[in-house]
Amino acid sequence: MAAAVTVPATIPAKSSKTESYVDSKRRDDVRHANILAARAVADAVRTSLGPRGMDKMISSATGEVIITNDGATILNKMEVLQPAAKMLVDLSRSQDAAAGDGTTTVVVLAGSLLRSSLSLLSSGIHPTVISDSLYKLSVHAVDVLQSMAIPLELSDRESLVKSAATSLNSKVVSQYSSLLAPLAVDAVLSVVDPDHPDLVDLRDIRIVKKLGGTVDDTELIRGLVFNKKVSHGAGGPTRVENAKIAVIQFQISPPKTDIEQSIVVSDYTQMDRILREERNYILGMVKKIKAAGCNVLLIQKSILRDAVTDLSLHYLAKAKILVVKDVERDEIEFIIKTLNCLPIANIEHFREEKLGHADVVEEVSIGDGSKITKITGIKDMGRTATVLVRGSNQLMIDEAERSLHDALCVVRCLVNKKFLIAGGGAPEIEMSRQLAAWAKELKGMESYCVKEFAEALQVIPYTLAENAGLNPISIVTELRNRHAQGETNAGINVRKGQITNILEENVVQPLLVSTSAVTLAIECVRMILKIDDIVTVR
Ligand code: ADP
Ligand code: MG
Repeated sequence: MAAAVTVPATIPAKSSKTESYVDSKRRDDVRHANILAARAVADAVRTSLGPRGMDKMISSATGEVIITNDGATILNKMEVLQPAAKMLVDLSRSQDAAAGDGTTTVVVLAGSLLRSSLSLLSSGIHPTVISDSLYKLSVHAVDVLQSMAIPLELSDRESLVKSAATSLNSKVVSQYSSLLAPLAVDAVLSVVDPDHPDLVDLRDIRIVKKLGGTVDDTELIRGLVFNKKVSHGAGGPTRVENAKIAVIQFQISPPKTDIEQSIVVSDYTQMDRILREERNYILGMVKKIKAAGCNVLLIQKSILRDAVTDLSLHYLAKAKILVVKDVERDEIEFIIKTLNCLPIANIEHFREEKLGHADVVEEVSIGDGSKITKITGIKDMGRTATVLVRGSNQLMIDEAERSLHDALCVVRCLVNKKFLIAGGGAPEIEMSRQLAAWAKELKGMESYCVKEFAEALQVIPYTLAENAGLNPISIVTELRNRHAQGETNAGINVRKGQITNILEENVVQPLLVSTSAVTLAIECVRMILKIDDIVTVR
């Protein structure tokens, strides 16, 4: 394809286009429209980048309001219709899956690369040539990033905390980063399996949100937390020490027929018999449970019939068994992993060896009269962690949860790939500088493309400066100078409003976040460039 275009290395004016297509107007138009639409999406999140970035208030058709600074969340909630613009939404989502942080960065980068592509296209360069240069550029850019990386040990808790704090810096809850950053580090480290450190699953960290208090009251709990009270309507216990816990998936209530039918009871003695049978049935179950030594029951929510009735609660209370009912089905897996026990699906299988053991199960009240149930001192606890997130209003709690997710992802990235890199625009400027130098070694069209894209990477420091209210042009120029003099870690210190060694400011981020942002953004831009028609199918 590249041979079809024979434009000299120094790109002259448009008039000397020597395209072999007779009519390429439609293709150009489609490409143009796609790029413009995708760029519009990138521009929408641009102001949210960095510690001084703005937040977005998203109000949905259902009246739900969200305040967030997280690129992935903003884009996810936006109703984007244009297919190419949707690709940027997906781009942010893939960055979220790959690294968890850098979701705004990746979209802003893609937007800037698209802008450069547009100008390259308009000077007559064939999209395939642009796309190929982009590919080469991405390989080289990752090399540059890797050469800047600082290796990290997992025992170096301070560096882990610093990187978690960097990711929290740019969030609405940034003033709580001194609490949330160490918490995120501890949470992730407590679920790392030393034999398989690369297999950290964030599903092993459960975030329980409870309205009330402030984000300051957020805590990491070694154990289990249920965002509900104990069911003690019938006077059962609310605190059990030396607990033997059963997770049950059957119902302690009278059985029902499989099909809809009605039973006509014609006299009182029969009525009495039914009630007595029901009572015996439930009593029999409770006796079996008690016989196995169980004193805490976690009952899965049932869609067939009531998991517990007043009568069964009464008997359970008499047997001094603490009951937590309506445990969601999707929580069961986490619970059994934490308690190191087995779920019980039928009363016939209720045996002691299936129970979990803990020092204390208790209902505790937190602040404003609301209560939660806590299980602590679990024996042989699985590798899980629970974070109880508090906040004075739902908007704050939700954003705290999302920010915490980013911080957890950052720590997970570092556990997977133990390298750090400076933040504050330093890696992007260094990439831009080294790629521009590399462009001079290349020949022809490629050199021209690489040079243009190298410049496009400066969008990150430019935007960081712009959002912090600094003069972007003078900041970026100075940054380039400092890097040219060999200060690879010079970055924008948004607090002081000047360029300093950003490592001394403790602004560090995982290498994986930067590398995946660059490669994913380039991949997306290449994909958009290669589309020359949109076909709608009904
Ligand atoms: P993203 O959603 O892409 O993570 P953020 O809003 O979190 O976007 O901004 C991340 C950018 O902000 C990174 O380039 C990071 O280096 C930079 N950054 C974060 N904290 C600071 C800081 N204190 N000083 C300078 N730059 C910072
Ligand atoms: Mg971030």
